[in-house]
Amino acid sequence: MDYKAAFRAAVDQIRDEGRYRVFADLKRHRGAFPHATWTRPDGGESDVVVWCSNDYLGQGQNPIVLDAMHSAIDQHGSGSGGTRNISGTNHHHVELEAELADLHGKDAALLFTSGYVSNEASLSVLYKILPGLIIFSDEQNHASMIAGIRNGGGRRHIFRHNDLAHLEELLAAAPADAPKLVAFESVYSMDGDIADVGATAALAKKYGAMTYLDEVHAVGMYGQRGGGVAERDNVMDQIDIIEGTLGKAFGVMGGYITGNSEVIDAIRLMASGFIFTTSLPPALTAGALASVKWLKLHPEVREMHQERAQTLKAMFRAAGLPVMENDSHIVPVMVGDPNHTKLISDLLLAEHGVYVQPINYPTVPRGTERLRFTPTPFHTDDMMRKLVGAMEQLWAHCNVARMGGHAA
Ligand code: PMP
Repeated sequence: MDYKAAFRAAVDQIRDEGRYRVFADLKRHRGAFPHATWTRPDGGESDVVVWCSNDYLGQGQNPIVLDAMHSAIDQHGSGSGGTRNISGTNHHHVELEAELADLHGKDAALLFTSGYVSNEASLSVLYKILPGLIIFSDEQNHASMIAGIRNGGGRRHIFRHNDLAHLEELLAAAPADAPKLVAFESVYSMDGDIADVGATAALAKKYGAMTYLDEVHAVGMYGQRGGGVAERDNVMDQIDIIEGTLGKAFGVMGGYITGNSEVIDAIRLMASGFIFTTSLPPALTAGALASVKWLKLHPEVREMHQERAQTLKAMFRAAGLPVMENDSHIVPVMVGDPNHTKLISDLLLAEHGVYVQPINYPTVPRGTERLRFTPTPFHTDDMMRKLVGAMEQLWAHCNVARMGGHAA
């Protein structure tokens, strides 16, 4: 067997489909967000504005967060020293879990090393805790939820995206006495559309199902204290398990679930992805704790964030660029072809000081390739004008259709 050739063939296929990923080599600088230094392939450096960070609120540069991280290193050292069970529970874990439970109005919370792990570990173990469980999963759920549901090995039904009539059909057809769980997201990251969390929860309740809500793209950003869309819509108490990340709006790293104490205790005792891995280091938990606390008290940052997103969408629309409409902070501009998407992204980076990563299959369906912009409170009008000007030029250059128009 020519193993090398087999690996090369796999890569070649991806390259032929225009999906070969090149990571932009960036250096961020304290206080300069959203500017960064990009190291070009030839080794030279240029200043770029980062337009696709999931550090949605710039918390990764908030001095409150950085100071907490520095002081945790100074006081406690680097790593946590073990799994949560074997010496790896630091006081910051305990405090952060209490803070997150409070954020979502729940009894308890459980930390994981990432949002991905929190979804995979929690969803997969639910089948063990609830024998005969059937999970009803939105078709656009994140890869980590799909992995958890698949790895759990139990029964599952996929409902059409945000389609409550379809969900109801599936719930009604399932055995009335089987344990059930509806798994969905609030803000979907690629289209930026938002689920009707209250209506989904009410439907689940009608059929005796539990609910699992991924608020990864909403925590910190929605709700009076940053508790997510469920807080904004006043339905946190209707959701059994709320999952979130510390790596996006909170600007650090890590994931978590919150829920009532029985649910959290069972997952804590049974989920492999929680038990058998080194816990988050003190600097991360201290930074996340500072970030969650700070954002609870700063709703004006959330308002500014929404305002920035609306302004950018309006500017793209005014320029006739095909921005996908949604009610969130995510600004997708549709290109519809992987090679064009990559070319526009490459030229924005190399010639216009704009960094936005192309989004291609399998992250989004083929034919819906796009550029996904995530303006933060730190993106100024001037940065937006430059971005839109560059996009207009490149759109003409690549001959991509505008809104209401056609490529020649
Ligand atoms: N859920 C959703 C909806 C996500 O988009 C992501 C990451 N992009 C995750 C979970 C995983 O979160 P993390 O990055 O913290 O692993």
